[in-house]
Amino acid sequence: MTETGATLNLWQVTAPSGIQTDPLEGDVTADVVVIGGGFTGLSAALHLALDGADVRLIEARDFGYGGSGRNVGLVNAGLWTPPDEIEAALGMEAGQKLNGALADGPALVFSLIDAFDIECEAVRSGTLHLAHSPKGFKDLRNRYAQQAKRRAPVTLLDPDETARRTGSTAFHGALHDARAGTIQPLAYAYGLARAAADAGAHLHAHTPALGWSRGAGVCRVDTPAGGIRAKRLIHATNAYNTALPQTRAFTPVFYLQFATAPVPEALRQDILPGQEGCWDTATVMSSFRFDRAGRMIIGGVGNLAGVRASAHRNWARRKLGSIYPALADLDLEFGWCGRIAMTDDHLPRVVPLGESGVSIFGYSGRGIGPGTVFGKCAAKWAQSGAPDAFPLALSDSRSDILAPVKAGYYDMGSLAAHLFEARRLFPRADRARRITRP
Ligand SMILES: Cc1cc2nc3c(=O)[nH]c(=O)nc-3n(C[C@H](O)[C@H](O)[C@H](O)COP(=O)(O)OP(=O)(O)OC[C@H]3O[C@@H](n4cnc5c(N)ncnc54)[C@H](O)[C@@H]3O)c2cc1C
Repeated sequence: MTETGATLNLWQVTAPSGIQTDPLEGDVTADVVVIGGGFTGLSAALHLALDGADVRLIEARDFGYGGSGRNVGLVNAGLWTPPDEIEAALGMEAGQKLNGALADGPALVFSLIDAFDIECEAVRSGTLHLAHSPKGFKDLRNRYAQQAKRRAPVTLLDPDETARRTGSTAFHGALHDARAGTIQPLAYAYGLARAAADAGAHLHAHTPALGWSRGAGVCRVDTPAGGIRAKRLIHATNAYNTALPQTRAFTPVFYLQFATAPVPEALRQDILPGQEGCWDTATVMSSFRFDRAGRMIIGGVGNLAGVRASAHRNWARRKLGSIYPALADLDLEFGWCGRIAMTDDHLPRVVPLGESGVSIFGYSGRGIGPGTVFGKCAAKWAQSGAPDAFPLALSDSRSDILAPVKAGYYDMGSLAAHLFEARRLFPRADRARRITRP
């Protein structure tokens, strides 16, 4: 058996076609200009248009080109950081505001999917955070206690129940969050774009912002064939930013995924019968889920560029085999990766751009719910100018001079971890057989 489509993003192949737009030509005015066509920018444009504002959104490539069209599709509540730690870091009042807003993230995402009939393989049967070790289960107990005291619909599962729900005995327990679910993320981005355009937003793909300037209460954004003058600017390019010099305000961390051919029905019966999306408690975490066609998608931290690709691919095959031995020999038909904007404290940032603009970034790997929520908040802010429209105080853009070093650490660290895990998962003879297999 050979592996095909090694550099293909599954989501691009299975998403329904996106809307067609023309690149911006000439000079135009608007109430609000949005830079970036991912979840944040598209949610902002949709909510602005629904409120009757005149909004222009420009996207350098295609809608969903950035993290929004590459992610795992786990629509989780809250951030990576547990809620108690957020309250400790921000103070009780500010922490509660952020926790409350992001706890409702999945509800907002799934309500938009319903309201605008977005065809994106949405399944809302929760996610499973899986303990990869006894220490991981201790972490989950702590997370459970924090969520339970906030009356979140979470359940701690013992190893037997986890084995029943996952179809694997590889885990020491799990935390199920009923608020969460899975989507086809690129299809969701396309759906937001269509809904925004239908509501009256002017969208322009293939229109990169080349720079911006401000004066007398007006922002101007320049593009290759025209410009936009607007009262407010929302800059939403996250880890894919090419419009502003802010690359060191976060560390770019790569996350990769591989998808198998559709798993035959006979092999699937006991695997994730509830269709939950899963990720684990390991420091170098991994994730897995089915798509609607029954492909198993396995992901982990790492960059697929260059020579690292084959090491990560071998890891993915062996990791999958260690969780589901019956799937070990399936072809990996798709492989892709994307950049996560990781801040030093793993909290997002809303940074003012003068008095009439904001830059929003740094979801640190949790951007479906948070991006949709922050986009909606940005729409409110653009109309009122009130900074408290955001669930987080505006902050200075703290440049992290160690960002390039940290990026290298994540890159090499994930590669080393995957190589090491490969050795642990398979004895030497078996490893040699599998690694040399085409
Ligand atoms: C591999 C991967 C897996 C992930 N898994 C999950 C997950 O399961 N669950 C979850 O909640 N989050 C996940 N995330 C995080 C989530 O995908 C991101 O946080 C989210 O997509 C960010 O959305 P955004 O709109 O802010 O930015 P993006 O989606 O990155 O969009 C930014 C856009 O700005 C455009 N742009 C850049 N420069 C310019 C310019 N000069 N002019 C015009 N446009 C420009 C880019 O082309 C891009 O399309 C994952 C991320 C990655 C990379």
